[in-house]
Amino acid sequence: MSDEKDRLGDKFRDVEAARESEWARKHDQELLEKLRARVKVTLKCPVCQRPLAERVVGGIAMLACPKGDGAWLDSHALESLVKSRK
Ligand SMILES: [Zn+2]
Repeated sequence: MSDEKDRLGDKFRDVEAARESEWARKHDQELLEKLRARVKVTLKCPVCQRPLAERVVGGIAMLACPKGDGAWLDSHALESLVKSRK
């Protein structure tokens, strides 16, 4: 009985983790769509000249160098980042 209960508990945790993962994926997608709506051109990294790639890191949408030279945040994303650190 205890084993069954543990397995059921594990199953519920798995389902909950999958739901949270799905929610996070949808939320990240929404953030990227908002970013695309604001940025109308392809921006290039000022260091290596490669096109910046869309990324969502910690719930913040940004454009980042694929080599890791840096990232570009708009004012909305920067405000969200500052608020999240308080
Ligand atoms: Zn670069």
